[in-house]
Formats: sequence, structure tokens, C-alpha cells
Amino acid sequence: MTDNNLGEKIYEGKAKILYRTDDPNVLLAYFKDDATAFNAQKKGQIEHKGEMNCAIATYLFQYLASQGMPTHFIAQTAPDWMQVVAVKILPLEVVVRNIAAGSLCQRTGLDLGTELRSPLVEFYYKNDRLGDPLFTEDHIELLELATPEQVQQLKQMALLIDRHLRSFFEQCRLILVDFKLEFGLDASGQLLLSDEISPDTCRLWDRDVADPKARILDKDRFRQDLGNVSAAYHEVMARIQTVVSQNSRDR
Ligand code: UDP
Repeated sequence: MTDNNLGEKIYEGKAKILYRTDDPNVLLAYFKDDATAFNAQKKGQIEHKGEMNCAIATYLFQYLASQGMPTHFIAQTAPDWMQVVAVKILPLEVVVRNIAAGSLCQRTGLDLGTELRSPLVEFYYKNDRLGDPLFTEDHIELLELATPEQVQQLKQMALLIDRHLRSFFEQCRLILVDFKLEFGLDASGQLLLSDEISPDTCRLWDRDVADPKARILDKDRFRQDLGNVSAAYHEVMARIQTVVSQNSRDR
């Protein structure tokens, strides 16, 4: 683990703060306990979220890296600190869906819980003022947010990540309903999976629970005021830890 000196704060988002280090290619991310929903109209805190999301994202980035996926993850340097590659984030949220929930139900009228015949990839324009609108590939080209080649690459990477994550979460007895990814370009122009993967950015349902509210183990507990939010994140972390240690023993 390289020790980098904490430099200037370069960005503060809803869930993380990014700092420069003495290496221009390396940043430090601090994971906050703050939670927001509905374009920051709802605000709160989830106890120990920063540490839990940092640990969960670390496990998932390491798992995806072991499957050959390029990510910005370098190391977890403290419970709520992650060292990452400095990238230029594309202003796109790439959402992959396996089961209908959230805005897909509102947009299409599909019932909550409908299994999709094949995974659906969607792009949203990261723009708080516009409320992160759904974008077609032509919109992306129009605003030159990414090249058509990069858009195809993003889709391919998102679908591959979905395959790997579904099989991993299956081992955790968790259903991966949908999730949001962000990608960035490193100094050499390579696309890297960036940001985080955590219960803030995924919908995860307990495979062994049928009740549609009780099975929710992600930020929907916060969005819908269902209670036990921190406990749900803890459950996800504990199941991931168990599977990771089982898999490393089996190797
Ligand atoms: N998501 C996210 N950040 C956002 C919007 C969505 O991480 O700004 C995640 C969300 O947690 C879910 C998936 O992307 O796992 C799809 O979200 P959806 O479009 O259904 O929006 P929502 O109903 O969650 O606002």
C-alpha cells in the first residue's frame, strides 16, 4: 500500500469527497455517512455507511478486477478511505437492469419485480440542474459526451459487469435487481470502471425473503423510509465477506 499525502479537495459529491495526493495519477476518496435521494431533496445519514460502502466497493472492485475488468480501484487505505486512479469521469450514469423497479416501472408501466428477458442498459446524463435525464445514444453524440465507440464499449463493459456481479451476488443469496455505474478515462485514455458499487447504487433483494418490503437490502430502505437502513447495508457487507473468505479458502 502506497502512502499518499492528502492534498487539495477537488470534489465533494453526495456520498464521497475526493482529494488530490502528491501523485497526480492517484486520488483519495473519503466515503461519507451522508445519504441523499430524489436529486438531494431528501437528506439524511446512515450510521457507518461510509465504512460499509468503502468495504463493499473494495470487495466488488477486487472481484471484478480478478475477472479482468479494468477499474479505478488501487487500495483501501483505511475503513472509509480508498485510493483510486485519477480519471476524467464521463458525465453519464450507466444503469443496468435485470428486474423492473424504480423509474423503469414508472416509465414503462411494468410491474415491480418483472424479470426482464435480457438485461437492459440505459444512459442518464449526469446533470443535477436537468434532473439526470434518460439519454439515447444520439443524445450522447449530440452533446459529445462520449464517442460512439466509447458508448459501445460502455455497454459491453456494463453487461459484462452485470454477468459477474449477478453470479457473485447469487452466492450471497442476493438478487441484483439493478445498479448504476460510472466510468472514467485514465491518463492513457483507457476506460475504467469508477465511482463505487454499493447498496447506495444497487438494488439488492434478499433471495430468501418473499415480502416485497422486508427483502429490500439497499438505499430503497432510506428512500421509502422503511427503517433498518444501516442494518441492511451491514447484512450485505457481512454476506459478501463470508463469500469472499469462502472463495479464498476454496482456491
Ligand atoms: N441510481 C444511482 N444513482 C442515481 C440514480 C439511480 O445509484 O442517481 C441507481 C439506483 O440505486 C438503482 C438504479 O440506479 O439501483 C436504477 O435507478 P432508477 O432509475 O430506478 O431510479 P430511482 O428510482 O432509484 O430514482
